[in-house]
Amino acid sequence: MTPILYLVIPCYNEEQVLPITAPIFMGKLSKLIEKKEISDKSRVLFVNDGSGDSTWDIIEKLSKEQTLIKGICLSRNMGHQNALLAGLMTAKEECDVTVSIDCDGQDDINAVDKMLAEYKNGCDIVYGVRDSRKTDSFFKRHSAQFFYKLLNRLGAKTIYNHADYRLMSSRALVELEKFKEVNIYLRGMVPMVGFKSTSVTYDRTERLAGKSKYPLKKMLKLAADGITNLSVKPIHLIFLIGIISVLLSLAGIIWSIVAHFLSYTVAGWSSIIAIICFFGGIQILCIGVIGEYIGKIYMETKARPRYIISKKTDEKE
Ligand code: UDP
Ligand code: MG
Repeated sequence: MTPILYLVIPCYNEEQVLPITAPIFMGKLSKLIEKKEISDKSRVLFVNDGSGDSTWDIIEKLSKEQTLIKGICLSRNMGHQNALLAGLMTAKEECDVTVSIDCDGQDDINAVDKMLAEYKNGCDIVYGVRDSRKTDSFFKRHSAQFFYKLLNRLGAKTIYNHADYRLMSSRALVELEKFKEVNIYLRGMVPMVGFKSTSVTYDRTERLAGKSKYPLKKMLKLAADGITNLSVKPIHLIFLIGIISVLLSLAGIIWSIVAHFLSYTVAGWSSIIAIICFFGGIQILCIGVIGEYIGKIYMETKARPRYIISKKTDEKE
């Protein structure tokens, strides 16, 4: 039995790169179908994440011309992770195995062969891991590395140098669907699904066209989501800082009493200000981190839909 493969590709304002990469994805799929590696029911599924440009028009046009191409359109921009989830959940109803990949051509599509080989070996999840980051900018490379290390230190198990290029079987996706959280960070959630998993390496190149849709602000949000969604270690850290500051202040109180009795209590304005600032700062920091979690709880209790699909290409209007 040859598996039905869906390539799931989120697109946000990608009118520049889509006409270049769509034929690459299609070409790969047709080659695999020709070699009888995958079923001829396999498809490329584009997810339009509320683009403001002509991305959806391009997807619709492609889907009319090419049977291999399908598309879904979200009702507005929901973010990369939500768009990807929308695509994966839609795909899992129609296929045996999915490969998620960015639409900018940065990830080497040929790694799909290796992923499929591992799938046929019985793996339900295959992570695409990039060989090096030599094509990323200095800042991006180092900030990404720092983030991975920080995440792992903070208790969130993620795969080093793995983005969202991965194979998942529909069985793994059915289990992923049971993770009901609203703030999603798939790179951290997928390893929690378990099953037999492995990694394959590939070279990551530069974007073929267009600009990165991950400005610093979105990257920082992803980093904060990653940490607060996956672990409660920051809360433990706060507890530790609290204990240490209580011990320090105890020592300070003893010292001030001793100083009082030894009668050299000259008003130390600067030290008082320093101490007030120090503890004020720590308190605000701690309240801020706890606030992050409360914010998350607030959002989770709302249980808002994680994505809303407004259109699909198959539907005739
Ligand atoms: N993307 C999306 N919604 C967003 C931002 C990005 O669907 O709000 C998609 C984008 O079209 C691309 C993928 O997510 O396919 C990765 O984005 P990008 O290549 O800009 O990120 P980078 O590679 O620079 O980290
Ligand atoms: Mg990219």
